[in-house]
Amino acid sequence: MDRFACKTAQKGFGAGKAYILHGGPAAAYRPGSPEEEAARLDRAAAEMNRKLAARKAQADATETALLDAETAILNGDEFLGEARRGILEKGLSAPDAIGRTADSLCAMLRESGNSYIQERCEDIRGLASGLAALARGSGQGMPTEPCILVGTELSPGEITMAGPDILRGILTETGSPTSHVSVLAGSLGIPYLYGLENLADKVRDGDYLILDSEAGGICVHPDGEQIREAEARQAAAEKARAEQRKQAAGKTTRTKIGANISRAEEADGLAEAGADGIGLFRSEFLFLNRSEAPSEEEQYEAYRHAAEAMGGQETVIRTMDIGSDKRAEWLEMPEEINPALGLRGLRVSLKYRELFRTQLRALLRAAKAGNLRIMIPMVASEWELDEALKELRAAAEELDARKESYAIPDVGVMIETPAAVMIAPELAAKARFFSIGTNDLGQYTLAVDREARDMDAYFNPMHEALLRMIGMTVKAAHEKQIPVAVCGELAGRPEAIGTLIRLGVDELSVSPAKLVATRNAAAEAEAAIEKERRPKTAEGIRSPAEGELIPMAEIPDPAFSGGIMGECVGILAEDGNICAPLSGTVTTVAAAKHAFSIRNGETEVLVHVGLDTVQLKGEGFTVHVREGDRVEQGQPVLDADLDLIRARGYNPMVIVVRLNAG
Ligand code: PEP
Ligand code: MG
Repeated sequence: MDRFACKTAQKGFGAGKAYILHGGPAAAYRPGSPEEEAARLDRAAAEMNRKLAARKAQADATETALLDAETAILNGDEFLGEARRGILEKGLSAPDAIGRTADSLCAMLRESGNSYIQERCEDIRGLASGLAALARGSGQGMPTEPCILVGTELSPGEITMAGPDILRGILTETGSPTSHVSVLAGSLGIPYLYGLENLADKVRDGDYLILDSEAGGICVHPDGEQIREAEARQAAAEKARAEQRKQAAGKTTRTKIGANISRAEEADGLAEAGADGIGLFRSEFLFLNRSEAPSEEEQYEAYRHAAEAMGGQETVIRTMDIGSDKRAEWLEMPEEINPALGLRGLRVSLKYRELFRTQLRALLRAAKAGNLRIMIPMVASEWELDEALKELRAAAEELDARKESYAIPDVGVMIETPAAVMIAPELAAKARFFSIGTNDLGQYTLAVDREARDMDAYFNPMHEALLRMIGMTVKAAHEKQIPVAVCGELAGRPEAIGTLIRLGVDELSVSPAKLVATRNAAAEAEAAIEKERRPKTAEGIRSPAEGELIPMAEIPDPAFSGGIMGECVGILAEDGNICAPLSGTVTTVAAAKHAFSIRNGETEVLVHVGLDTVQLKGEGFTVHVREGDRVEQGQPVLDADLDLIRARGYNPMVIVVRLNAG
């Protein structure tokens, strides 16, 4: 067995056979017969010709000349003809034949002594490596059985094409936790490790792999016993996930916990799994890995399905965020040096208006089926939002003309560019909600490419700059009474949840796999915030429970209202979580567990839960401290079952007495 350390993009455990995708190492290639290899070469060349033609359509004169030269090289007898002969006469695989042809062509050019001709070697090498990758791709299908998907580098489209239901894990050589592959893996609950140098030498197609983020890496070639253990652990993890989903439904938090999905079917069962709605449906995944755009009807079905599955809960569908690493093969896109700063998100929608309008018509029609909302990605200027809203009105008019019924949903803006943060007050006047995409807001604010490798140290999602931006966005939104969600990866990071809630964020939208943990962390953070906010007296005494305060004179027990023991106040406690009203030493814990006192210097406070509850002789009370213990203000001291107290006929009012000295 070999162990290799990796970095974690998405936590989790997965075990199964490695399935290496074509982007991956050459070792994964399975050559066919010479005829099959020749056919792969032809398919790859046809695809390459198509790509060159698409680039040429956008090119200026200089680039056109270069592309013409590349096309001529590709189709010439010296290249394609030679590669084909290598396959048919020497029995080489298609990628090998391409590589060797490039080698011999370059060797010939180098001998020319002409520097211009020698430089063409670079072009030939580039062409050959692209062609070989295409040949490898066409030589492989997609997995059909549960597996760990492995590749030097994988694209989001490949993950969806591989069929998320059968992926037990993902492993790549290059990657980053905020890449779209990682985001997608998170949303699908698939563990994902990356950063395995020289992956091709370490993992072969079909090797059994154990991928474990807790152990910080992978195991290759485990023995039979280890495989049995891994399979059992995997089954247990899957069962626990299913159980957790069931438990989630019972909890409530003031902060809404939404789910991020990328396929309509993922909406099934989400409400039961504890989601308060869909905070982000990445609709662009409907547009990837296909030969043409999805029709209005196909889109309508998908959006309707999601909205219906959520019942009346909010279903936020983001309009297609195509571009950057999410390339739709059928859509002509310019070759960009830095596509993350180029044509993506709303910019694509505003360039291809008919495509956008088709999507908007589908969304408007689906809005009748539930509580659907539309969200616009990558907004940087007010005019862009105006244009999007104009397109929405035009789409509605088209439906009117068709006499088709529809509903106009609320439209919100994704805040994922620093520009959008700075003009948030203006955007808030036009939008019905905001959702902060911290993945992109992070990359554009910190100037760190979210897809880049080895940049983790610079991509700090808790960077003060980002947190201030979130605060600014919340302020602008709340001034206009619109809610703010966070739907980037940060929303699901336990260490960030309290901070986001303190900043005033109203909703956290996370991958379905993180719903439970996020809900729990949000509940904890809310409780802590409540405690901090409990009223304080002049002496720094805090209310030990949340609830309405009752003046001393109105406490229905003369032992307290008469002030015999000292000044006091009653609390109609909302729950039985009773905390220390001040830091100090526990001086008494009543034998019937219904009362305790704490002293700090001259100040001593008694907390008495319920009137006459001494009679319960401890039933319904759990005390967490003992006499003599040192406690901190806000620390939980006692749990009281208020329902039980009421059921036994007692008044559960909590009394806080500032005991008279001496
Ligand atoms: C984001 O940018 O934070 C976001 C949620 O969108 P995506 O990750 O799909 O770009
Ligand atoms: Mg984004």
